[in-house]
Amino acid sequence: MNIVLIAPPASGKGTQAQMLKDKYNLYHLSTGDLLRNISKDGSELGIKVKNIIDEGKLIDDDLMIEIVKEKIYSIKNNGIIFDGFPRTLNQAIKLDEMLKEINKKIDNVIVLEIDKEIALKRSIGRVACSNCGNIYNIYFDDLKNPLKCNNCNNELIKRNDDTEEKFNLRFDSYVKNSKKLIEYYEKKNIVNFVSSLNDKETVFAEIKNIINRG
Ligand code: AMP
Repeated sequence: MNIVLIAPPASGKGTQAQMLKDKYNLYHLSTGDLLRNISKDGSELGIKVKNIIDEGKLIDDDLMIEIVKEKIYSIKNNGIIFDGFPRTLNQAIKLDEMLKEINKKIDNVIVLEIDKEIALKRSIGRVACSNCGNIYNIYFDDLKNPLKCNNCNNELIKRNDDTEEKFNLRFDSYVKNSKKLIEYYEKKNIVNFVSSLNDKETVFAEIKNIINRG
């Protein structure tokens, strides 16, 4: 089973992808995580990628497709949950071509929906533990110490692109690109919309229902 998650920034996409991975034993392919790792390696490419992410812009399609291609060809036995890819119509078309070559296809596309105002609050309040990776929100979560992880007491850090200005750029880019992307998958009859306003368990229960319906 291969699933695509399409969602605006700070809608809980990464959290749902992680839950899907655990429940259905899928490979979690997060292009945001892949790119953030590349951006840390100090290479010329890493610096270029870091600048693009920090500006809230998209990595160009050719490079993105190359990175994803290498990854999906190395995943042999698992289904994949695509988190953050495709983000453009061109990426979606190329993804179908790549999957076809290895006898795979996208079975389900889940579109998470959220109001811009709420996503903004989730974005600018989001912090992650520098050690265990746990994610919190300074507005919604009960943090024992606002600068430390509840789980392992290590430092909490913010993503550089989680500022109001960058959020607006990323959200507007999502609205612009996702329309054609969703239409593309709607023609294949594999799209389901889920409200991401509820808590993560409720959202996940709805996604599971969709998947179990087949
Ligand atoms: P995310 O963690 O999914 O919010 O992604 C963080 C950033 O990585 C995005 O704002 C983009 O700059 C970049 N990125 C992630 N996935 C893609 C993609 N499929 N195409 C282009 N850029 C991407």
